[in-house]
Amino acid sequence: MKLAGKVAVITGGARGIGHSTAVKFASDGAKVAVCDINPELTQVTLGEIRAAGGEAEGYRVDVTNRAEIAAMVAGVMAKWGRIDCVVNNAGIVMDAQLKNMTDEQFDKVIDINLKGVYNCTRAVVDIMLAQKSGVILTTSSVVGLYGNFGQTNYAASKFAVIGMTKTWARELGRKGIRAIAVCPGFIATPILNQMPPKVLGDMAAKVPLGRLGAPEEIANVFAFLASDEASYINGAVISVDGGMTL
Ligand code: NDP
Repeated sequence: MKLAGKVAVITGGARGIGHSTAVKFASDGAKVAVCDINPELTQVTLGEIRAAGGEAEGYRVDVTNRAEIAAMVAGVMAKWGRIDCVVNNAGIVMDAQLKNMTDEQFDKVIDINLKGVYNCTRAVVDIMLAQKSGVILTTSSVVGLYGNFGQTNYAASKFAVIGMTKTWARELGRKGIRAIAVCPGFIATPILNQMPPKVLGDMAAKVPLGRLGAPEEIANVFAFLASDEASYINGAVISVDGGMTL
């Protein structure tokens, strides 16, 4: 089990990619803090992990709320005494073309997708520095590499987390901490529910593999990156998109 003995904090861990990542990390031996704003789905995720023999705790964490993040970090440290990996995964979309975008749409997406990543990483970095080890994984997007129609706010947030990742890779590498961004393509999760089926079909047709991705296909990459098998990967931006950006 490649994550045996490791403790991982996963934000947005109750649903979609975060849920699959929590399940995968636990099945690979990690102790998992499932952090989400959705308590019911968090309980479902915990039940699934525990039924499979894994170890996990749930924490109500809105990544824009530093008090909730601090309480979660204190809880994880009290229970398991270390944090080896944070997966900054919580994210939302609030799409509109630039001419129609409201300040509220812009600010909310930046608050969660960008500042939330900063908040959570800031809250664990001293622990990782004291341990002289840690892995900071962040879910960016292919939109964070190429932009996308109707996603000024989302693209800004997803480009920005790549900038932070590269900065952390430079700042923290010598301290034993790796930082990596993963850029999923279109992955079949509830975040895509807002899109009409025809648009989803058109998106799938653009992917050389001919289909949307599954959340487990992102979770598998995160699990590898969190493991010691990825010990020389730092500052990388890894596309997991079925080749759609070729
Ligand atoms: P989902 O909407 O399926 O899951 C996101 C989870 O995060 C939900 O449980 C959601 O809760 C939770 N969440 C939302 N806001 C907050 C918050 N402020 N604090 C903590 N948790 C929060 O999304 P995906 O799994 O699809 O996406 C996960 C990440 O992957 C996001 O960062 C997204 O931008 C990125 N991504 C997704 C792609 C895709 O095609 N699916 C493609 C590229 C990147 P609730 O259910 O209550 O809203």
